[in-house]
Amino acid sequence: MKLLEERIRKDGIVKPGNVLKVDSFLNHQMDIELFSEMGKEFKRLYEGCPVNKILTIEASGIGIACVVAQYFHVPVVFAKKTQSINLDGDVYSTKIQSFTHRRIYDVIVSKKFLSPEDHVLIIDDFLANGCALEGLIDIVKSSGATIEGVGIAIEKGFQKGGDLIRSKGIRVESLAIVDGMNAETGEIFFREQ
Ligand code: 5GP
Repeated sequence: MKLLEERIRKDGIVKPGNVLKVDSFLNHQMDIELFSEMGKEFKRLYEGCPVNKILTIEASGIGIACVVAQYFHVPVVFAKKTQSINLDGDVYSTKIQSFTHRRIYDVIVSKKFLSPEDHVLIIDDFLANGCALEGLIDIVKSSGATIEGVGIAIEKGFQKGGDLIRSKGIRVESLAIVDGMNAETGEIFFREQ
């Protein structure tokens, strides 16, 4: 999606350690008009798919997921990160290794909000090594719901997540795929889509 690529080029900051900072428009301050265009694009890509629920993970997926959901006219469920050791039986739970915080979270979704009748579109801001997505996929699988696909704002194509998730037969649509970044020059290279 050209609009998103242009914005990343203009305002994205390449940090050492393969981290792309986009907190001026995507995951701290949020440009809702840009999110709207992203929502339209996901709707176009998933036209005809019987999506009845959007699933994301707190915190930075929530804003995008809410705007996307307006185009699908469906509710958003977000997976919660929790510290609690005693998880009760009313939740689906999984463990996720965080790329940015380098720790492992327990992540939960209440059984009230996902069931076998659901057709889920998973939305997140970044796809890097795929840990966050694997966790969300695990939760959807435990609920018996169907995964219609995944929608990602920025995929870091030089990390293994995209291949990993697609190799499971899951459709992944990323609006911008970054194939390389140079922390010294600040250059960002996008995959032609
Ligand atoms: P993964 O689980 O695919 O390795 O990483 C996905 C999560 O890590 C995303 O939800 C995002 O919050 C965070 N993340 C991964 N790479 C980056 C990055 O380069 N920049 C930012 N801002 N977040 C990232």
